[in-house]
Amino acid sequence: MHEDFVSVLSSGSSGNSFLAMSRGRGVLIDAGISCRELERRMSLFGTEPSQIDAVILTHEHTDHVRGARRFAEEFGIPIYGSRGTLALTPLQGIETVAITPSRDLTIGHLHLRPFKVRHFAAEPVAFSVTIGSKKASIASDLGCVTPSVIDEMSDSNIMFVEANYDENMLLSGAYPDFLKRTIRGDHGHLSNDDAGILSRKASTRRTRRIVLVHLSKENNTPKRALETVERDVSRSGLNVEIEVSEHGRASGPFALG
Ligand SMILES: [Zn+2]
Ligand SMILES: [Zn+2]
Repeated sequence: MHEDFVSVLSSGSSGNSFLAMSRGRGVLIDAGISCRELERRMSLFGTEPSQIDAVILTHEHTDHVRGARRFAEEFGIPIYGSRGTLALTPLQGIETVAITPSRDLTIGHLHLRPFKVRHFAAEPVAFSVTIGSKKASIASDLGCVTPSVIDEMSDSNIMFVEANYDENMLLSGAYPDFLKRTIRGDHGHLSNDDAGILSRKASTRRTRRIVLVHLSKENNTPKRALETVERDVSRSGLNVEIEVSEHGRASGPFALG
């Protein structure tokens, strides 16, 4: 098993969670599946709850926090989140630590930088995680690609990028109009086209891999997401490997390097 890695424990509306590890210790970024399932999926990557120093939340939506309280309670782990996120997540009796967007924090060997994203939540953030000279960025649940998001993610060795929906599938699909508008809005989710733009603009010669996450089961397919993002990133002339983390499945470990 790699010393420094990020794994996807689950991705999509049925639950989101990432495991970031360095030299035997690490954190969960989001915990949107049950406590038991978090434990089981961590074990796929040789990790036990006793190796986890924090559960860090990006925002309060259920698909990101479902198992957080139980996991924190059972294993005596603090929960980190922005003030807005902590205020809206039921965390009675759990030690919480407030984080501030754009203010770096260090947990074990991991250096984390939360940065602001636009999404229909109280105070949502995305993260870059730096271990030594290697950087991973994790950006899911954001409504639009802003210059500051590109800037924060730029020069990552590996990026996890939301590719939520295919524009045509969403528009011709069964969702009611108000929901389509919300998803497509500046505070909703990223389309495959948006994911392509973000991936291309944030990629540099250091960037080795892009993993597409948070795909909609109804409004996207892994094939469409992959083709759209590959087409855009190939315009940069960079040699970047792109893959999809399928809905509800674990994938990785992705070594930082
Ligand atoms: Zn979500
Ligand atoms: Zn969300």
